[in-house]
Amino acid sequence: MNERHYDIAIIGAGPAGLTAALYSGRALKRTILIEVGIPGGELLNTEDVEDYPGFPSVKGPALAELMAKHALSFGATLTTAQVTAISVDPDGTKRIELEEGEPYTADAVIITAGGKPRKLDVPGEQEYAGLGVSYCAVCDGAFFKGRHLAVVGGGDAAVEEATYLTRYASEVTIVHRREKFRAQPLLVERARQNGKIDFLLDTVVEEIVGDKTHVEKVRLRQLPTGRVEELDVAGVFIFVGFLPNTGLLRAHAEHDSEGYYLTDANMQTSVPGIYAAGDVRAQLTRQVTTAVGDATTAAVAATKLVEEMAHQKLPLSVIGG
Ligand code: NAP
Repeated sequence: MNERHYDIAIIGAGPAGLTAALYSGRALKRTILIEVGIPGGELLNTEDVEDYPGFPSVKGPALAELMAKHALSFGATLTTAQVTAISVDPDGTKRIELEEGEPYTADAVIITAGGKPRKLDVPGEQEYAGLGVSYCAVCDGAFFKGRHLAVVGGGDAAVEEATYLTRYASEVTIVHRREKFRAQPLLVERARQNGKIDFLLDTVVEEIVGDKTHVEKVRLRQLPTGRVEELDVAGVFIFVGFLPNTGLLRAHAEHDSEGYYLTDANMQTSVPGIYAAGDVRAQLTRQVTTAVGDATTAAVAATKLVEEMAHQKLPLSVIGG
């Protein structure tokens, strides 16, 4: 047996990847789960999860740990490695190239590689990354005790993380480019009720300004009037969406205009034997619940595929019974 060949390879160990590993392991498929960091994905950047059934309120990292333990208990192998490319050999074998070491091969691949925060692309953002500019409230919020912070964005992440940051900050100003929020009304209402949060709507960040060692202010432009004003802040937390990690696949898979994979009902991409679940997949909403549901479908479908492939490889006499 080729030690580096697996029935199913899963790329990324967030909630989707862990669920896929659970189902694939339980189906007794030889499974490798490849993750560059600690298992948990976006859960590791989330303080409280309140919308995962059965857990009225649970810390993101704690849920991640439970999921990882559970997933691996059925026999999947977790390995730490950076995947650099996924390709398909002429005979259909999937090849997973790594930054270091020999590639893995597999009959089916489930891509659950999540994504990374979208950048605002304004002057000062890159210069002050880690010096006051952050994309993770749970990671960096505690550095800003008693300080005024700006949070940029109007989605679930911006509103939820702004609320989280009020436990440290003296004041949090949410800067959003429209009047209307994309975030769930319940989250917006909760933020409105929070005495430490105020809103600057119809407003964009033009520049993040500092003294070379840390952020001192943001330069803002009010869209209807064009008025430019400055707001003194010690930090800028940017939550303007997510970019899917869909650049690894060397074969062309159908995707939407933002790069999210389009899949069929079995979570298969347009490349046979390559499945996608979680934040890499085009869908209405990206929740932990949808990630684990879609990963279940992907793992069950991938299992069926590799079993059919194994069946077809058997001598005809055996298939005939
Ligand atoms: P999102 O829903 O795509 O929202 C991104 C926000 O950033 C939007 O308000 C957008 O404004 C704004 N934006 C985008 N580009 C911008 C730019 N260049 N300048 C200024 N503003 C910009 O992203 P998200 O909040 O990261 O959420 C991603 C997914 O994760 C969503 O499906 C969300 O439901 C899910 N999520 C869920 C939870 C939860 O349920 N508790 C928590 C976090 C994330 P416009 O509205 O004007 O486009």
